[in-house]
Amino acid sequence: MTVSVTGATGFIGKRLVQRLHADKHSVRVLTRSRSKAQLIFPVKEFPGILIAEERDWKDCIQGSNAVVNLAGLPISTRWSPEVKKEIKQSRIKVTSKVVDLINGSPEGVRPAVLVSATAVGYYGSSETQVFDERSPSGNDYLAEVCREWEATALKVNKDVRLALIRIGVVLGKDGGALAKMIPLFMLFAGGPMGSGQQWFSWIHLDDIVNLIYEALTNPSYKGVINGTAPNPVRLAEMCEQLGNVMGRPSWLPVPDFALKAVLGEGASVVLDGQRVLPTRAKELGFQFKYPQVKDALKTILS
Ligand code: NDP
Repeated sequence: MTVSVTGATGFIGKRLVQRLHADKHSVRVLTRSRSKAQLIFPVKEFPGILIAEERDWKDCIQGSNAVVNLAGLPISTRWSPEVKKEIKQSRIKVTSKVVDLINGSPEGVRPAVLVSATAVGYYGSSETQVFDERSPSGNDYLAEVCREWEATALKVNKDVRLALIRIGVVLGKDGGALAKMIPLFMLFAGGPMGSGQQWFSWIHLDDIVNLIYEALTNPSYKGVINGTAPNPVRLAEMCEQLGNVMGRPSWLPVPDFALKAVLGEGASVVLDGQRVLPTRAKELGFQFKYPQVKDALKTILS
């Protein structure tokens, strides 16, 4: 299979490209910066991978069997009005371009599948509600971003199989929220963050990559699919498990201001959580390698 990937140089994208390459698929990395992508995917390690800047995306998408769309400005930054605009616009701009290029591809070379990222921020936040794919959208800023991001992807031609993956907080070794939270946790001897009652809908990096991979190859994966582990936890439990795995007592609360200092307003993803269940993934028979946060953290931190 030939797969074009936007955001391939990011935390999730890198692991996905490694997996696709290891399984002998042909990968096209759609990036804004060839030099950055070449450092991440050196020819020696990744022979045959094609790296394309924006002017060449059209040629890459035409002739690909599938496209994975992961690009967007990271949200763990300070949210000035300009940054907020860019968080939304970067996602809509890339998604819109990908959709236009797919729709404009002549039949015969048109990709048959689009797997497009979105986030559990779609549901808004709540300490009491349980959300799954049938739940309505929330009414905060991130919910609005996700709605517009998804609406853009939904403009893809109806003959293209679209899977929209609403991703939870991805836990992995070399990036994402956890990499930023761990030093803080060390500093404060690792206690709960904020009130600790917020829900934390997480997923291990291997599982989100497997889910995207499955969505690429399995025709039953269609429509919205939550990319979260089946057992979300309250933040206090997440911190307790993190403390156990790191061998540090979990007693001193990490103050909100400290978390905001490293995650910017993006800390809202952790401080105002939501309990999201992967109902569709389970219906589809997806096997989670890491259903429990304790095991996920153990593997990541071992
Ligand atoms: P990263 O932030 O690690 O990478 C995203 C990629 O997007 C970058 O490598 C970059 O690729 C591209 N990018 C960055 N800024 C811009 C911009 N201003 N305009 C266009 N493209 C840009 O993301 P993740 O791998 O962590 O996540 C992938 C997707 O999944 C993102 O859209 C994210 O919002 C979503 N998601 C991630 C979660 C997580 O916990 N990681 C949780 C929920 C959703 P290049 O420089 O090569 O163009």
